[in-house]
Amino acid sequence: MAVAPRARCYPQRAVDRVLVLNASYEPLNVCSLRRAHVLVWKGKAEILESHDRPLRSATTAHPRPHVIRLVTYVRVPRTVTRRISRRVLFARDGWQCAYCGSETTRLTLDHVVPRSRGGASVWENVVASCAPCNHRKGDRLLEETSMTLRTSPRPPSPVLFIRLATEHIPDTWRMYLPGLEPASAAAAA
Ligand SMILES: [Zn+2]
Repeated sequence: MAVAPRARCYPQRAVDRVLVLNASYEPLNVCSLRRAHVLVWKGKAEILESHDRPLRSATTAHPRPHVIRLVTYVRVPRTVTRRISRRVLFARDGWQCAYCGSETTRLTLDHVVPRSRGGASVWENVVASCAPCNHRKGDRLLEETSMTLRTSPRPPSPVLFIRLATEHIPDTWRMYLPGLEPASAAAAA
């Protein structure tokens, strides 16, 4: 994308990112300050938290939003798959092997029902696995082994995506992000 190098030169400052909540107060995503301002200006969102320092133009001053809430509820189909990425998968599984629980920097992606046995590449069928467990399981079904899953795999929550997209979660966001875990593991990745 043409904008990528420029984006790298001018990384968005934390103050320029805005947490977007659904009308139901469920966290949806993170957007730019500019986008949030447009949403508020068009009456599509309301400001829940704002910075002390307003947004100034030559003639006006507007509140600088930090958390906004959409006025109209946006239906988010939970089952619509967000593309599987290793980074999100490993974060979902707490950077541990889903079989033995070992914390290793060399995690692999494992299909619980192997693809060779008809297993699909969906969040419910992929887990983080250490290389030895992945090798041990091979092309077998779980019931053909003595191995067990520590948790049943599920699609990652929007909060997880927000956490991964944001290096530092501002304190003002935390009360709107239920189940937020410490970001240290994510930051280390
Ligand atoms: Zn393992």
